Amino acid sequence: MDQVFYRKWRPRKFSEVIGQDSIVQTLRNAVNLNRIAHAYLFAGSKGSGKTSTARIMAKAINCRNPIDGEPDNQCQICVDIDSAKSLDLIEIDAASNRGIDDIRALKNNVNFTPTSGKYKIYIIDEVHMLTEAAFNALLKTLEEPPPHVVFILATTEVHKVLPTIVSRCQRFNFLSLKVEDIVSRLEKLCLDEGVEINRDALLQVAQVASGSLRDAENILERLILTYGEKLELEIVQNALNVGYETESFELIRYILSGDTKKCLEIIHTIGIGGNNLRFVHKTLLEYIRLVLHAKTSANIRSPLSDEKIKTIKEWGGKYSLPRILYCFNRLLEIKFSRDLMDVLPFELGVVEASTDVSNDLYNQETNLKDSSNIRIEKNDNFVTDISEIKDDLGSIEKAPEKKVSQEKIPVSNNGNNSAVINNQEINKNSDSIEQLKLSQWSEILNFLRFSKGKRFNLSALLRVSVAQRIEKDSLIISYKHPSHRDRLDTEIDDVAIRKVLEDAFQQFLGKKYTMQLEVEESLETEDKGKNLVNAAEELGAIIIGQVDHKSIQNDEKESV
Ligand SMILES: [Zn+2]
Repeated sequence: MDQVFYRKWRPRKFSEVIGQDSIVQTLRNAVNLNRIAHAYLFAGSKGSGKTSTARIMAKAINCRNPIDGEPDNQCQICVDIDSAKSLDLIEIDAASNRGIDDIRALKNNVNFTPTSGKYKIYIIDEVHMLTEAAFNALLKTLEEPPPHVVFILATTEVHKVLPTIVSRCQRFNFLSLKVEDIVSRLEKLCLDEGVEINRDALLQVAQVASGSLRDAENILERLILTYGEKLELEIVQNALNVGYETESFELIRYILSGDTKKCLEIIHTIGIGGNNLRFVHKTLLEYIRLVLHAKTSANIRSPLSDEKIKTIKEWGGKYSLPRILYCFNRLLEIKFSRDLMDVLPFELGVVEASTDVSNDLYNQETNLKDSSNIRIEKNDNFVTDISEIKDDLGSIEKAPEKKVSQEKIPVSNNGNNSAVINNQEINKNSDSIEQLKLSQWSEILNFLRFSKGKRFNLSALLRVSVAQRIEKDSLIISYKHPSHRDRLDTEIDDVAIRKVLEDAFQQFLGKKYTMQLEVEESLETEDKGKNLVNAAEELGAIIIGQVDHKSIQNDEKESV
């Protein structure tokens, strides 16, 4: 191993670029048809093959004997480019050459014709790093490029590139590489290098590299240099400080089902070492992403075991899209800090993700008004309003509106069938009281995501509410804890902050509403991390029927 892997294994032809099939096909066609654009923009995450593809393109358009759009890698031009000796390929790293002087030099330079090939190619890497003045100078060149010049701009942050530049380029979006693509590539590499390593170990390497082939190859190379050419899974896991697949999988299970207690127990077993949690976090994101895929489409591409894929598909069927998105967002928001113990932001994020009782957890459509007025009663008058029970009430959901039924429906997850539901009162008052649709509520939360009150983020204050409903001209937001209610209450003392919120409600609900806050005292003894039905049953609750909102409100709620 005399060369760094990623250089040695850098693709030298379009057909060797992995994971970007449609891009390389388009570029090959362009070369074949001799329809070369003057400027290309390659956008995509690091290690996705942008610069390698740019170099192959440089060879292909100058090669003396291109073969079906590919460089032959044998003529002098190809050899010079491969060995970085070509005068016609100029590579600029904008991360280190941000200044206008560099672009001015480039501007003067572009007028000289190429020395050996047909084109002079400028690859500007990390082009978003250029200063504005440099951008403008580049723009002038892009407006009237000499016919022998081709620009290939590469960036990991395309949103920072001036739109006027983007619009002058033919743009290609490089996809982040899939784990299985990276694994296949590493497998081939190990075979050729005579390295003994099994697929599971390579999977670990690929996962740590998060979509970057270059990182994956570097990690693998480091492992081989340190541990030799026979790598056991255990060695790899220890070296990378990874593992915990089982724990991560269980964790995502309990996050989705809302079992906060179990979540914290698992985090405890993982321990609080920094890298452990970072890896678990990354794995959680991968799992929840797959659940989202399972929810939105049938196909999941993943190197996970069939058994795990099956479970993930089940979760996709079981949980509602808002619930999955909610968990995804909370997990995405976890930011590890260098100063704090890592376990704190991680625990906080997981607890948040697993305790979203304002949304219905399961796979129901978002109209809550049909069955949201169900009470659970315990011997000592423990009463709670639950929307989650909808999952157990499929047949009620399907009943036509306003139809009064006398059926008694056993609750499916109660072993001795002692709980029965009398849904006589369903839909009573649904004309005057309307539960907000989950989709509307999510939109409002999302819209207010960056709105800050005096002390708190407004979206966060709304998010911890447990129910939202409309009564005539009022939007009533219910909290479980008085402290949560009080925080928002203090914020909306300020007229301007109240207006921000009420304007947002108007925008998404189509009408002006006055905001009212309340505390559902009946919920205070509840363990909010759990599916409320299960939790209540654990407490000995028996579901006896539904009541309308008004009576709950009059009896047990405190209006603010
Ligand atoms: Zn050639």
